[in-house]
Amino acid sequence: MAKEQLECSFCGRKKPETNLLIAGLDAHICDRCIEQAHGIVIEESKQSDSGDLSAELKLRKPLQIKEFLDQYIIGQDATKKVMSVAVYNHYKRLLQPATNDDIDIQKSNIIMVGQTGTGKTLMAKTIAKMLNVPLAIVDATVLTEAGYVGEDVESILTRLLQAADYNLEKAEKGIVFIDEIDKIARKSDNPSITRDVSGEGVQQALLKLLEGTVVNVPPKGGRKHPDQKFIEVNTENILFIAGGAFDGIERVISRRLNMQAVGYSASISDDVVDKNHLLQYIIPKDLKDFGLIPEIIGRLPVLTYMDPLDAETLRAILTEPKNAIIKQYKKLFTMDNIEFSITDGALDYIVGKAIEYKLGARGLRSLCEEILTDAMFELPSSDEKKLNVTKMYAEDKITKTTLKKLKAVS
Ligand code: ADP
Repeated sequence: MAKEQLECSFCGRKKPETNLLIAGLDAHICDRCIEQAHGIVIEESKQSDSGDLSAELKLRKPLQIKEFLDQYIIGQDATKKVMSVAVYNHYKRLLQPATNDDIDIQKSNIIMVGQTGTGKTLMAKTIAKMLNVPLAIVDATVLTEAGYVGEDVESILTRLLQAADYNLEKAEKGIVFIDEIDKIARKSDNPSITRDVSGEGVQQALLKLLEGTVVNVPPKGGRKHPDQKFIEVNTENILFIAGGAFDGIERVISRRLNMQAVGYSASISDDVVDKNHLLQYIIPKDLKDFGLIPEIIGRLPVLTYMDPLDAETLRAILTEPKNAIIKQYKKLFTMDNIEFSITDGALDYIVGKAIEYKLGARGLRSLCEEILTDAMFELPSSDEKKLNVTKMYAEDKITKTTLKKLKAVS
């Protein structure tokens, strides 16, 4: 083909009419057609993005959801199982075709009870990561009733919108993790004696959100921008996961179990009650006796508990999850061509200190940081290309003062 006859194989424009003509094997394409095609690709991928959720969810059955959680979270099998089913059902509800059988699948909002540092937030984060949906983590203690100092309950949705990059459609399918839900419990189970109005007021405000409603949300949060436009957010398909330590709830559970045992229902006394691990027997009534209002409990129908972390679990947390702390340090050192290793003795020592000083899983990271800071400071500029952390090395870096300091911050 003569040069002047070259033309775009898509639109037919001759070479001189184009800014650029790119040759392929057997054809040519001009700059305009490239741009147009690019636009189509973007549009298509946007459409398939919104269809992503359903595609993903169709793929993942509860068993697969649990397998995903297993990669990041050690133990907590009971919660993982309950979570997998709840999340599966929640998103199945979103995908349900419109039928007229009058059966309306209700939301499966979740409440997790367990000491701090047992992985409640991690559980919510991992679920959000798996589903690729936005996640807002809020602390119930900062929430107040509208009109009081503190954050309105609607601010939760502002956070979710931010997490979704202001994509309303995405936000409305997101996950909200409400931490420390126990802190807004009424202080007494007898409402007429000590009525903790602010706590109960927040619970009331949360109710609507949990159930599903349309809320006018100020996109930037707060009341300081009076002229900003509100965004209408529908919470009907947002999955709420609440978590709390519920300190002292074991007493409530134990009282109930004892009462059942002396009563004529002998079922519990026949079973062996594991007194060291009473949380596993938790039922919604215990939450009510602790001070959550029944309406809130009703709107968090999936109740589950987190096991306290024992030495074995802490040890596994250090090395096993996909992004385990030790793996992270290894990666950091590798970037400086430093071969990092740590002995079993050192790992056991770290776990031992975390338990002795009640630092929990969060303490593991601080302990590692204390042990490795000197090396991370010095090695990148030295000729030393190997670091093997032994128990002795770890002991040397961790003094009583640092432990006390860590305890104070945890
Ligand atoms: P909680 O929300 O219950 O207070 P977090 O989820 O914030 O606890 O856990 C604190 C940290 O401890 C997490 O960042 C995580 O690295 C670690 N962790 C806690 N429990 C586990 C677990 N079961 N498996 C893996 N890591 C865990």
